Amino acid sequence: MKLKHTRSEAAFERAQQLIPGGVNSPARAFGGVGGCPVFISRGERQYLFDIDGNRYLDYVGSWGPHILGHRHPVVVAAIQQALATGTSFGAPTESESVLAELVIAAVPSIEKVRMVSSGTEATMSALRVARGFTGRDVIIKFAGCYHGHVDSLLVQAGSGALTLGTPSSPGVPVGCTRDTLVLEYNDVEGLAAAFKQRGNELAALILEPVVGNMGVVIPTPEFLQACRDLCTQYGTVLIFDEVMTGFRISYGGAQAHFGVTPDMTTLGKIVGGGLPVGAYGGRADIMNTVSPVGPVYQAGTLSGNPLAMACGIATLETLKKTNPYAELERKTANLCEGLSQICRVKGIPHTVPHVGSMFTLFFNSEPVTNYQVSARNDTARFARYFHGLLERGIYLPCSQFEANFVGVEHTDENIEQTLASAEAVLGEIT
Ligand code: PLP
Repeated sequence: MKLKHTRSEAAFERAQQLIPGGVNSPARAFGGVGGCPVFISRGERQYLFDIDGNRYLDYVGSWGPHILGHRHPVVVAAIQQALATGTSFGAPTESESVLAELVIAAVPSIEKVRMVSSGTEATMSALRVARGFTGRDVIIKFAGCYHGHVDSLLVQAGSGALTLGTPSSPGVPVGCTRDTLVLEYNDVEGLAAAFKQRGNELAALILEPVVGNMGVVIPTPEFLQACRDLCTQYGTVLIFDEVMTGFRISYGGAQAHFGVTPDMTTLGKIVGGGLPVGAYGGRADIMNTVSPVGPVYQAGTLSGNPLAMACGIATLETLKKTNPYAELERKTANLCEGLSQICRVKGIPHTVPHVGSMFTLFFNSEPVTNYQVSARNDTARFARYFHGLLERGIYLPCSQFEANFVGVEHTDENIEQTLASAEAVLGEIT
């Protein structure tokens, strides 16, 4: 029997009259897979419930923050306690230092940290600080990495080495991307050539140290090391954008996992536990250029918001205390191996890269090393797979080019159930 979506359909109709595309962030609109997004009424542990009363096993986790599941009791209690004292003061609170201390203790590169309200703000601010610190303008990003909707980072993905950035969105002036070089992920030679030609002009190199935003793409050890070595050699600030990977692939993020330490790090998602928090931090000498200590200006009315701080603190303290990372890795590896086995038996081209609890099932047998390979995926097959699983009560990211997340509340039975559903769906759509 098909799931009923009548209420979601009506809600989407209404939302489209009021909000562009009916959504407040485009990734939610089912654009890549077609159909009507389900409207959510509540979350509970590893499940989402829509307004038609359907229950879904959730592999999106609000696009990353909910590693502990929805409405974790410790997190809810912390927010309630903070709420009893007020929602925002525009003056310092002790909770900001508590979260800062947790972040500094966890993330190897961070000696000082500033809280903001989104991942976009974190990357935008980190770039400004890197430029202020070095007195240089040019930055490198990699095709297929997403760092939020910062003007200078909204650059045509897939440009060849050393081409100057052109805006990928109307409304971004060419001038904003003139200083952005776009290179291919995992291409050590291309990177070395760029540094040889422009190294003395480079303020920053920013990357996702495991990419989640072209589906999961894993860096080669040589690539991460080359990023580190070239930045050191040329005095360029190496920024790991750990908005997705921070507190996700290990408590210390990708930098702790791979043992490569950047100069600056950006955080978001889990650091706020589901309320709006971003953060950027790094070496003290770099962070001391930030206003009011130094001349680089950055500010925010709701930065360090007490409810958001309480939510972030409860989330990080719970992760620190329970250390779920080995268990998350085990469950995710089982799921990925199971998906791979099903595809093998059915003769479906695929790869299922995962790091920690982030994974993507690509319908393409080439190892996905960069944006160009990622773009060669069978997105039509993905759309059928997505809708097949949705009908069976499993909620995946609605695009092939996203990371799926396993959380601490996902049980072995949930993984088995997901595999059984995937087997049925992949049998129907091959
Ligand atoms: N950086 C990375 C790696 C992200 O995945 C995202 C969002 O998905 C961002 C930055 C932007 O964060 P936000 O959506 O909180 O602005």
